[in-house]
Amino acid sequence: MSSAAFEVRPYPEMWAELDMDVGRFDKARQMLGEVYRKMFLSQKNRPANMAYFDNMVAEIFGGRIKEMLAVKKKGKPVVGTFCVYIPEEIVVAAGGVCVGLCGGSQGSVPDAEKVLPRNICPMVKSAYGFKAGRICPYFQSVDFVYGETTCDAKKKTWELLDRLVPTYVMEIPQMKKKRDRTLWLEEVQEFKAKVEEVCKTTISSEDLAGAIRVINDKRRALQRLTRLRAASPAPISGKDALLIEQIAFYDEPVRFAEKVNTLCDELEQRVAAGIGATPADAPRVMVSGTPMALPNWKVHNLVESARAVVVNEESCIGTRYFKDLIAEDKKTMDDQLAVLTDRYMQIDCSCFTPNDERIDQILKEYRESKAQGILHYSLQFCHTYNIEEIKVREACEKEGIPYLSIESDYSPEDVGQLQTRIEAFLEQIRG
Ligand code: SF4
Ligand code: SF4
Repeated sequence: MSSAAFEVRPYPEMWAELDMDVGRFDKARQMLGEVYRKMFLSQKNRPANMAYFDNMVAEIFGGRIKEMLAVKKKGKPVVGTFCVYIPEEIVVAAGGVCVGLCGGSQGSVPDAEKVLPRNICPMVKSAYGFKAGRICPYFQSVDFVYGETTCDAKKKTWELLDRLVPTYVMEIPQMKKKRDRTLWLEEVQEFKAKVEEVCKTTISSEDLAGAIRVINDKRRALQRLTRLRAASPAPISGKDALLIEQIAFYDEPVRFAEKVNTLCDELEQRVAAGIGATPADAPRVMVSGTPMALPNWKVHNLVESARAVVVNEESCIGTRYFKDLIAEDKKTMDDQLAVLTDRYMQIDCSCFTPNDERIDQILKEYRESKAQGILHYSLQFCHTYNIEEIKVREACEKEGIPYLSIESDYSPEDVGQLQTRIEAFLEQIRG
């Protein structure tokens, strides 16, 4: 697809049927197309197989929504989630679609601020604002949403979101002791029962075994992509890799895994031929911290506009989502739910205390990705990541790793200041 021909395609009739604010949403659609052309399609030397993911963006408000509505028509559920702790395998086992609804756009924040306090995390405000303003076809398509108790801003927002769309909540413990694992298993069992009740279906152990394989395959494909980014020169830009990690939350999982693997075949050839998305001497940066929900490409764009390359995201829209798999050899429902719980307990979100395994994981990913510096990214008002950042910084100081910590939101106001700090950080890496 040529850059000039690219657009995020409009589906006004479908949006009207979904009770959206069509006029306003269409402006957002046009803006997304412009930003995408500038940030993504202007990149030089992109892998040819990024064409599939470009098309996923072109069809983000149309083609994929139609597929989800077709699933609904068959009486299967479409479930919205906001966190990688919600076990999507169970939704897939029920024949449904699990879609990540985290918001990464400043455009919906004013809608949320009519109700919610201003000084809370922009991701929570953006997500709530999408529903309040009726400006997200995914939000308008879901049968219900499943929140969790990972942070205060989220868990209190679910009570208000429930007034707009049925919202259930999974309790996530804050520690990882034996009793917490017991609670977590019970929550997973309750989640399964709720999905079965709302969808008037029964999930068999065969259904769950199939879903575990499907989601494991998706995670394996993303692991493969991550390994390939360790090559020098990096065969794909950080922006493109982040985009793929974002699309993982709304694409059909079997097709997605197949397309990521096709891309990885091409990247292997590029690595063998020494072809990179950027020159081999471009500084290599690992990003760590809070998730960057679509279309939050701010930091990656700043880093890569300064002729560096992002080679890893230690984040929930990144490795935290796909580093762990579920054992596939269990035959009974009890055993499957037990290993599923064990897998989800390995996620090292900063909402846990203590959470030292995340620090070890960051250092491991830093070495494996052959990065040359760590950029810690925290959304404004995210207390757990902002405070855990102190330990990340200390670990980097101890290891002699070039380090930069930034706290930001979705507005463009701090771009100039961030650009200056990122350029200074890259100079430190260049030496
Ligand atoms: S950062 Fe924590 S709360 Fe946010 S999606 Fe990840 S696990 Fe969930
Ligand atoms: S980034 Fe932090 S404050 Fe925002 S939703 Fe995630 S855990 Fe909560």
